[in-house]
Amino acid sequence: MALSKKRVYEIARELGVPSKELIEALAEMGMPGLKAVNTVEEEEAELIRELFQEHKAKKSPAQAEESAQELAAPPEKKPEKEEKPKVGQPRPPVVAVLGHIDHGKTTLLDTIRKTHVTQEEAGGITQSIGAYQAEVDGRLITFIDTPGHKAFTAMRARGAQVTDIAVLVVAADDGVMAQTLEAIDHIKAAGVPMIVAINKIDKPDASPERVMQELAQLGYTPEDWGGDTIMVPVSALTGQGVQDLLEMILLVADMEDIRGDPGGELDATVIESHMDSSRGPVATVIVKNGTLRERDIIVVGATWGRIRALVDHQGKRIKEAGPGTPVQILGLEDVPPAGERVERVKKPNQAKALAEERKRAALEQRRVARPLMTFEDLLAAAERKRLAVVLKAESTGALDAARLELGTIETEGVDLDLLHAGVGPITESDVLLAASVEDAQPLVVGFGVKVDGKARKAADERGIPVRTYDIIYDLTQDIERAMRRLLGPEFVEVKVGEAEVLKTFDIDGVGRVAGCVVRSGKVVRGGRVKVLRLGEEVFSGEIASLKRFAQDVREVQSGRECGIRIRDFDDVQVGDVLEIYTLEEVPA
Ligand code: GDP
Repeated sequence: MALSKKRVYEIARELGVPSKELIEALAEMGMPGLKAVNTVEEEEAELIRELFQEHKAKKSPAQAEESAQELAAPPEKKPEKEEKPKVGQPRPPVVAVLGHIDHGKTTLLDTIRKTHVTQEEAGGITQSIGAYQAEVDGRLITFIDTPGHKAFTAMRARGAQVTDIAVLVVAADDGVMAQTLEAIDHIKAAGVPMIVAINKIDKPDASPERVMQELAQLGYTPEDWGGDTIMVPVSALTGQGVQDLLEMILLVADMEDIRGDPGGELDATVIESHMDSSRGPVATVIVKNGTLRERDIIVVGATWGRIRALVDHQGKRIKEAGPGTPVQILGLEDVPPAGERVERVKKPNQAKALAEERKRAALEQRRVARPLMTFEDLLAAAERKRLAVVLKAESTGALDAARLELGTIETEGVDLDLLHAGVGPITESDVLLAASVEDAQPLVVGFGVKVDGKARKAADERGIPVRTYDIIYDLTQDIERAMRRLLGPEFVEVKVGEAEVLKTFDIDGVGRVAGCVVRSGKVVRGGRVKVLRLGEEVFSGEIASLKRFAQDVREVQSGRECGIRIRDFDDVQVGDVLEIYTLEEVPA
C-alpha cells in the first residue's frame, strides 16, 4: 500500500468517530458502499473528511440529542436469535485462532502474548488459563489460547458461541491446505467474521499472493482486490505485521459493535477445565455479559459451587470479572465440560438441587434414549426442514463426484446444506461440526472412508447419524430419502367405498344428515368424502359423524344403510353420490 493511500477506518480514527458512524454519514451524503477496510487515494480521503464535516454541521443539535437518546434507550423486544446485546458498552472481542497444522497458530498466540500482555510482576510465572488478554492501543482483545477448529466447534456443539471473531492462519509458503478448508467451513458454520493472517512472510519461499489467489478462488476475495475479506501478511516468528493484525481485529470488533453490559444478565461459558491436585476443580470461563464475582453461587451444567476465588490470565486474584474477561474459577464441586454455561443463583441449596436434577436427567437420558436411536428414528423424529451434511471422501476425485451428485438432489421444501466437504476419514471434528448446527437435521456421511473411533464415540454421545458408503448411488439415495423424511410422511387418498343419498334430515343445532345406502366397499368414520352430483364433484371434505340406528359406528359395509354428516356442508341432496376415501401413508 502506497503511503498516500488511506484506509477508511484510519480516516475515521483521525476524525475521532467509529468507522460505522463515518460510513453511515457518508452514505447519507451520497457516498454509499464504502467499507471500513477500503483503501482510498488522498484526494478521496480529503473529500470524505469534508463530507463528514458537512454532515456533522447539517445535523441540528436537537437531532443529535434525539439519536443519542435512541442509542441509550433499551432495545424493544429483541428480535429472535439476536445474540449480541446492543446495550452496555463496547467490550473486548473474543478471538479464536484456526488453521492448518504447522501454519503457525501457536507461534502467533505466543508472540502476541509476549509482545502485548503487560507482565505485572517481573519474573512471575504465569501459567496459561486457556485464554489471555492482549492490550493494543489501550484496548483489550481476549484470545482463546487453544488453537484449532476442534476446540472451537466442540464448544459450539454444546450450543455456546464464545468466539466473536476468528483468525484464520494460512502459511504463505504452504498455502491453503485440507485443514484450512475445514477451518473455513467451521468458521462459516459459526457465522462469525473471519480475518486471514497470511503467516511466515519472512520465509524466502513465501508467496502471500498465492494464498490470496487460492482464497479468492474459494470466494474470499481480499479487500485489496476489491473484495471484503481482510487479509493481513504477518510473521508470527519475527512479529512483523502482528500489530496490523491486532488493529484489524479491533476494527472488525468496532464494525460488529460488540458490547457487553457489566450490570446485565450473566452470560459466561466454560472454555477449559481440569482437576488440580491442590486447588480442586478449576474452570476457565469467558464472561460475555454481566459480571461474575467472588462468592457468587453458580450452577455449571450438572455441577455447582460458591466461587472461592477468581484468578485472571496472569495468575492474579481478582474480585470480579466483567464482559470480555477470561477468568479462572475455583470452588466448584466437580469439573464441568468446556462449552457449559454458568448460571448464577441465590441460594446454595437451590444450586445443589438444580445440579443434581441435571445429573439425574443426564443419566436417565443415557439409559433410555441411546439404544433406541437409529438412523431412521433420528430422521423420523426431526421436525426441521434442513439437512446439514458433512461429507468426507477418500480422494478429491471422489469428493468432487459426490458433491456433484448431491448438487442434483432436489426435494421441494427441504434444503440441503453442505457444511463441509473434505478428503479423509470421518473425524471427531466432523461430528462436532454437524452437532453444532441449529435448526437443521445433522448428518455425517463418508464415501469410501472409515469413521475413526473418537468420531464414533462423539456421534453416539450426541446422537448424530453417521453413515459410510462405497457406492455413490447408495449415498445419494439415502440423502434423498433423508430429505423426504424431513418433510414428514406423505399421504395419498385411497378410495374405499361409495354411498348413495336416499333421504336428508335437517337437525337443529347439528345440520343436515344424509341417509344413505352403501353401494360398494365401505364408509368409514373420519374418512374423507367427495360429493358428486350428476357426476360432478360439488364438495370435498370429511365425514363428521357416522351412525347406524342412532348409534355411532366406525364403519358401515356395502349393502347397509347409515346416516352421514359431512363437516361444514349442509347442502347434500337426495341422489348425490358420496365417494369415501382414507389417507394412507406412502412408505418412504
Ligand atoms: P501450529 O501447528 O499451527 O500451531 O503451528 P506452530 O505455531 O507450532 O508452528 C509450526 C512451525 O512453524 C514451528 O516450527 C514454528 O517455529 C514455525 N513458524 C510459525 N510461524 C512462523 C513464521 O512466521 N515464520 C517462520 N519462518 N516460521 C514460523
